[in-house]
Amino acid sequence: MFQGINGSDGIGIGQAQVAIEPDLSYTPTAHNNPEAERERYNSALDAFCDHTQAQADRMAVTVGEEESQIMIGHINMARDPFMIDEITNRINNGMSAEQAVDEVCDMFYGMFDGMDDPLMRERAADVQDIRVGLLANLLGKEVVDLSVLPAGSIVVVKDLTPSMTADIDKENVAGIVTETGGRTSHSAIIARALEIPAVLSVPNACTICRSGDTVVVDGTRGEVFVNPSEEDLAHFEAEAKAAAEAKAALNAYRGKPTETADGEKVLLVANIGNPDDATAAIEHDAEGVGLFRSEFLFMDSKELPSEEEQFAAYQKVVLRMKDQPVIIRTLDVGGDKEIPYLDLQKEENPFMGYRAVRYCLANPDQYKVQLRALLRASAFGDIKIMVPLVTSLEEIRDVKALVEECKKELDAEGIKYNPNIEVGTMIETPAASLIADDLAAECDFFSIGTNDLIGYTMCADRGNDRIAYLYSVYNPAVLRSIKRVIECGNEAGIMVGMCGEAAADPLLIPLLISFGLGEYSVSAPSVLRTRKIISEWSKAEADELAEKVMKLKTAGEVKDALAKAAK
Ligand code: PEP
Ligand code: MG
Repeated sequence: MFQGINGSDGIGIGQAQVAIEPDLSYTPTAHNNPEAERERYNSALDAFCDHTQAQADRMAVTVGEEESQIMIGHINMARDPFMIDEITNRINNGMSAEQAVDEVCDMFYGMFDGMDDPLMRERAADVQDIRVGLLANLLGKEVVDLSVLPAGSIVVVKDLTPSMTADIDKENVAGIVTETGGRTSHSAIIARALEIPAVLSVPNACTICRSGDTVVVDGTRGEVFVNPSEEDLAHFEAEAKAAAEAKAALNAYRGKPTETADGEKVLLVANIGNPDDATAAIEHDAEGVGLFRSEFLFMDSKELPSEEEQFAAYQKVVLRMKDQPVIIRTLDVGGDKEIPYLDLQKEENPFMGYRAVRYCLANPDQYKVQLRALLRASAFGDIKIMVPLVTSLEEIRDVKALVEECKKELDAEGIKYNPNIEVGTMIETPAASLIADDLAAECDFFSIGTNDLIGYTMCADRGNDRIAYLYSVYNPAVLRSIKRVIECGNEAGIMVGMCGEAAADPLLIPLLISFGLGEYSVSAPSVLRTRKIISEWSKAEADELAEKVMKLKTAGEVKDALAKAAK
């Protein structure tokens, strides 16, 4: 067994296709005809961009609009005036087009690879893609073509670049194994969107596997098996079959209300990152949107999105979701979400720094652009405004005051909005949890952000492997916090939801039922499974389990007890 990183869940079994990259070596030569060399570079650039645009168009249909933007990002990077200038200057100084491309891509690669932010670091793979595309064009070589593989292929490749992933024919690829890349790489994001099992960063994968080998990719556990014994193969086939059946069986929950075994209804909604994700939410039968992370709109842009641009995005979501509720979180910048053009200063401790609502309230004119856009879109459906990283009552009061100011402006301009728009808060800090009773008195709803609440409660960075053992929702400290927040909200008569990953945790769901959680906001592919688990528990059963579990003293004991009780 070879261990890697879990990139995309599921078990894939098939024949390895080790994708050998083309030989892009060349002999560096000087030239004395910059014009001809520039011409070669320009036509390579045009050919690369045309090919990439075609990939993006295909991806928009086969994978999704959002993922196709990754390829558009390549075109933008390759056509970036700074990159073009750097390459052209080198050519003008006598370098060959190949060498100039190589050197400048090296420079960009080093720049991204050296960044602290893992998301920015992953952009180094995009630079690599551009380098290979441009050099292959210059040298007249074919790049690896994954669009013509036989059925049941397991793609084994050193570095699966986004453009390779874009070529993948979902019908023929049973799994993916790479030697590099992490969970946040674009390739992993696309593999998950395609629902192809993937294991990343398996050392020497291309040497371990040979084309034609039988390979099992366990994307859930991050494990790869090469030429397993017949007995092991039978075991994996049975597991894959059971997983496929379980997935198909979930279709029985489509169109059904979300309710406990004894008929208590709750709301089951989806987390989305951009307006196009609303389509996935609908396809997976979500009953609305519980978290639209609006910061992605800002991150995908080169400058602050205007009121019109934001209005169009929010309106698009709410129109797609028809009468269903759509909770839009205002800009949650900072921490691991960097927005370069905001020019925020580097901080010693960015997760506890100038971010989210703190940044927004310090820049009220900028914040009002977003609030006005949200209010205007609220005339078209059930939009609710949600505030991230709240730690004090003043913050919610200040946001509400700004909302009122925006309403007055819109009144004066004769622009329609929902005057009763709800304003709620995320509960994702220990401070917000401790003052949940006071916050409940001034908010229209809560949504518990367990991703951050766990981290801040346990003082354990959510991205740090060495302390991952502390980062668990099953810690009694976290569970008591969640219970308290739900009780405070319910006592005040406001809706309490959860939009952190824990809302889809099969083991945790009975506890959430017992605590009285009213809304579960999960990733679109988790909607039906969450509905199924909720339907398997009655309130009385969940209460009995919660009473026992809440007396336990450690995360380990809690997890064991929940696993034992799981249906
Ligand atoms: C959370 O913290 O639980 C949450 C949903 O927000 P994000 O993951 O975007 O920080
Ligand atoms: Mg958060």
